[in-house]
Formats: sequence, structure tokens, C-alpha cells
Amino acid sequence: MSSFTYQFDTPSYKGTSTVPTGLFINGKFVEPVEKGTIEVVNPVNGKVITSVAAGTAADIDIAVRAARKAYKECWGLKVPGVQRGRMLNKLADLLQANADEFAALEALDVGKAFRVARNGDILASIGALRYYAGWADKIQGKTIETNEKKLAYTRHEPIGVVGAIVPWNFPLTMLSFKIGPALAAGNAVILKPSELTPLTALRLCPLFAEAGFPDGVVNLVNGYGSIAGQALSEHMDVDKITFTGSTLTGRKIMETASKTNLKKVTLELGGKSPSVIFNDVDLEQTVKWASHGIFMNHGQACTAGSRIFVQAGIYDRFLKAFTEHALSLKVGDPFARDTYQGPQISQTQFERIMGYIKSGKEDGATVHIGGERHGNEGYFIQPTIFTECKPNMKIVQEEIFGPVAAIIKFTTEEEAIEQANNTVYGLACSVFTRDIDRAIRVAHSIEAGTAWINCHNSSELSLPFGGFKQSGIGRELGEYALEHYTNLKAVHVNIGHRL
Ligand code: NAD
Repeated sequence: MSSFTYQFDTPSYKGTSTVPTGLFINGKFVEPVEKGTIEVVNPVNGKVITSVAAGTAADIDIAVRAARKAYKECWGLKVPGVQRGRMLNKLADLLQANADEFAALEALDVGKAFRVARNGDILASIGALRYYAGWADKIQGKTIETNEKKLAYTRHEPIGVVGAIVPWNFPLTMLSFKIGPALAAGNAVILKPSELTPLTALRLCPLFAEAGFPDGVVNLVNGYGSIAGQALSEHMDVDKITFTGSTLTGRKIMETASKTNLKKVTLELGGKSPSVIFNDVDLEQTVKWASHGIFMNHGQACTAGSRIFVQAGIYDRFLKAFTEHALSLKVGDPFARDTYQGPQISQTQFERIMGYIKSGKEDGATVHIGGERHGNEGYFIQPTIFTECKPNMKIVQEEIFGPVAAIIKFTTEEEAIEQANNTVYGLACSVFTRDIDRAIRVAHSIEAGTAWINCHNSSELSLPFGGFKQSGIGRELGEYALEHYTNLKAVHVNIGHRL
């Protein structure tokens, strides 16, 4: 079977990685039916790294059959939770044993700093697998009292065959957030990674068998969203789609599900998260968190704190310190030890972000720093700060998904809350103040699935994550996610009630 080998000889990592490039179906790597391929591009220089197989509807159908067969014959209700948990823990062990190699692949494919991939993405992936390994034998129903003639109880049964469609910004982490709970609950899975970043998912596939998962329980079909992703969400024998990506694609998936078999859908979508900074903050810490909020992962985070509301009394001091901090962020080679920010993911995203910067200027906002390409090749963009932003500007309303912060001055708490809520999104928010009453009041008033107080982008595997409004449906992570990977059954046992 075809594979690609990459020799890393970098300051951060030296080693060789061999990645199979086919589709992974029923425990084997296979060629796609229509023999298509997708080029994987290095965002640092725009050069092709390798090509991987591109699946179509025919491959999705083969994968769904394999998953259904495995689910019925050797998975689902046939394997006790304690065993499923052991397999997930073994998978986490295998990932941990190869963590540096996975981090290097993620850094190569996405362009994120190796250090960030290693201590962020890969650790979060291992953590999610272990967290849900722990849940696998604790997914329990209740007995519910009705009357003395009936024993009644609930069961949380697996849903069946789950299609998991993930984006490119945290490829392995998003995938782990889905396979963790899906497999813990006893579902079979078909993974559809982003066509832009398939490498870590492919490298993970051989580890499933090593961890003890029967063939067919986890399958992977790479391919374009409009072809393989669409085929997965259309398939009549897929019971659920768990999706992370843009609001636009989320809408399509929901529409497709409604027109086919009404498969269950959970959606983790986009955001335009506000950070609200009051006069009384610890300035140094607030600057660091707000910077982490917007510039982490080059601004390519669904929770990016892209609208920064700053109270008038601290505005000038905040802007000065925030600017100095942004200018200190090292942009460059993901494998250099001191790099904070690498390139954006693709030429398309690069152009999209530069388009937003242009629109901000045309709408009358001021480019305070940045706003230009960084370097001469690849998809690097300077950390950018806009001031003089107005509520109706595109840069204030739309998700840019790049290192672009819009700073907005406010006077009163009420005004800040109103502006923070003036968006179709509702994924996350942060509030910075030393006044605990105000912190909690504002956190409760902003319409968002996550509210951070005196921090931003500080996630926890045990806490639910997801969106209000157009940022999504359902929740990922924590115990709450499990309800989206199980069907709830009520069992009524008649104890001698005669008709
Ligand atoms: P995208 O919607 O373009 O693609 C996401 C995935 O969907 C990819 O695998 C793609 O191939 C697939 N896809 C595309 N069209 C499809 C279709 N018609 N049917 C089925 N699948 C299809 O998103 P992206 O550009 O990869 O990721 C960026 C977006 O993801 C941003 O909007 C970001 O906010 C969002 N995101 C959200 C979260 C969250 O948890 N809320 C996390 C990360 C990213």
C-alpha cells in the first residue's frame, strides 16, 4: 500500500515519519474506487508535501457497510464498556509513545509551531482519549419509580454508525474529541478529515488495530467536503454526523440530514467571540490572555477573541501594552524553537483574511499595526490590530479566522454587554475585571456557550463546549457530550399487572 516518508531534520524535532496515504476501511488501507488524489501543501512555502487518496461516494458506501457490519457483529452492545475503555487507553498510550512524531506531522501539515502542536494539540488528543476511556464503563441509566406493578429503567445505547467530519485548524484534537466519546459509547465511526490536513489522522489509523479495536470499528475516508463529506451526510445508513467546521457547511449538513434519514446531527461551528476588558484589570495578565485569545493558532480558532471591548479608562494603556505584546510575537518557521505564529493554512485562507483587512480599511477602521503579508513566501500574515472599529463593519461582524483583532472602546457595562451580544454567533466570551460581582454578572449576560473570567482560550476536557445561536447545536467534551453519542431507551417491565 502506498505511503509517504518524511525526514524531519529541524531544531525542534529530528526523526522519520511514514504515513500511509490510502483510505482506511475495515482495518486495511485501500485504494479509492475512482483512484483520485489530493495534494497536501506545506503552508510555509506553498509546495506540495505529498498526495493522499481522495474518496468519493462509492468509498463512503464501502466504509459505511464495513462500519455497520463491525457494529453488529463485534462492537456496539457486544463489547462491555470496560473493554472499550481499555482500548481507548491503549490508543492514548500509543499516541503518547509517538507524540513527538505526531506533533511534527501536525506542525508540517498545519504550519503551527511544533512546541504548540506538542504541548497543545497532541496532549489534548491524548487527554480526550483517556478522559472518555474513563467514561466507557460509566455510561449508565437510572431506575425510575412508577408504581409497584412496574420496574422501569433507562439505558444509554450506542447510536450505531457515526460519521465524524473535522476541520483543519486542530486536526487530531478535533478528531479525538469525536472518536473519544463515540467509541466509549460503543459506536462505529467513519472519519472524514479536512482535505487540507489529512496526515495525523492517516498516521493514527494503524494504531487502532494495535489498541485492540476490531476491524471496521474505525474507518477513514479522506476526500473533498463537497464529495466525501456530502456523501457521508447523505448516506441512509449513517445514524449520526458529528461535525466541526464552518457555519455554512453546518447548515448544509443539517439540511442534508433533514432530507435523507433524519440522522442525528451535532454541530460545532464558527464564532466571533468578545473579550470585555474593564478599567480595574491586572493589565499585564489581561494583555497576555487577550493576546492568547486572538493570536493563538494564528487566529485560526473558533473561539478566537476577535472583538476586544476595552473600557475608556484603560483604553490607551491597554492598547499600548497589547501592541507591544503583539509586536513581540515571533512569526516564522514552525520548527524554529522561538516561533509563536506560523502561516495561515492555505492560499485561499490567506486571501480571505487579506480581503477582510482590506474591507476594514475601506470601512474606515484604522490599521494600528500589521495588516500585511509577513515574508515573501507561504501564507504568513502579520499580527494585526484594528482600532476605530464600528459595530456594523464586516471585520466586527464576520469570522475572519486569522490574526486580526478589532479593538472597540466602551464606557458602561450595559453598552459592553449589548455590543458583545450584537452577533449571530455565541461560542465563547471572556470578561476581565477584579470585581467579582461584575465578572459573574457580565459572564452570565453574554450569550455564549463558554464564558471565561480573567482568561481566554483556557479549555478543559471535562467541561462541555459548544455554541449558543449560530455557533452550533449540541456539546462536545465532558460528560454532556456522551448524550450526543447515545440513544436513550426507557424499558418498562410489567410485574404482574394483568389486563
Ligand atoms: P469547513 O466547513 O470548510 O470544513 C470542515 C469540514 O467539513 C472539512 O472536513 C470539509 O471537507 C467538510 N465539508 C465541507 N463541505 C462539506 C459538505 N458539503 N458536506 C459535508 N462536509 C463538508 O471548515 P474549515 O474551513 O475546515 O474550518 C474552519 C471553520 O471551523 C471555522 O468556521 C471555525 O470557526 C470552525 N471551527 C469550529 C470549532 C468548534 O468547536 N466550534 C472548532 C474548530 C473550528
